[in-house]
Amino acid sequence: MALREEFLEANSAFAAEFKDGDKPLPPARKALILACMDARLHPEKAVGLHIGDCHCVRNAGGRASDDAIRSISISQRLLGTKEVHVIHHTDCGMLTFTNDQIAAKIKEDLGTDAGYGRDFLPFADLEQSVRDDVATVKSSPLVAPDTVVHGYVYDVKTGKLTEVA
Ligand SMILES: [Zn+2]
Repeated sequence: MALREEFLEANSAFAAEFKDGDKPLPPARKALILACMDARLHPEKAVGLHIGDCHCVRNAGGRASDDAIRSISISQRLLGTKEVHVIHHTDCGMLTFTNDQIAAKIKEDLGTDAGYGRDFLPFADLEQSVRDDVATVKSSPLVAPDTVVHGYVYDVKTGKLTEVA
């Protein structure tokens, strides 16, 4: 079965049991999680969240990129969130390449030079990357100055979250 059919079939079962259609738009826990897109990390499950509880922004690395800040700003100004929790994880793919390497791969695979000069936000030090992103969120003029910001490393082998910032 193609993935498309698998998705639609799984969703039929999901929708048949669905009972969370009455949740309000603003997140109940007034918080936003910024996490890596890694398939081994399910942020909501890892910290005990349910539908309607939190915003979850995901990208490669869980980085506080311009677009992540855009989402945090909308989350805070329009939907009342007050906290940001940054979650990076062990064995992250972002530890495995440099900007020059991904740019070369894009050139090789796609024939485009668009990768050069772009920062793909890889990192060499996992815990430092969390501290850097916590600092970026805290210092952004688009983020409320009284925002509570915490940072963690999630261990993909054990499921354990360790606070590092
Ligand atoms: Zn990752």
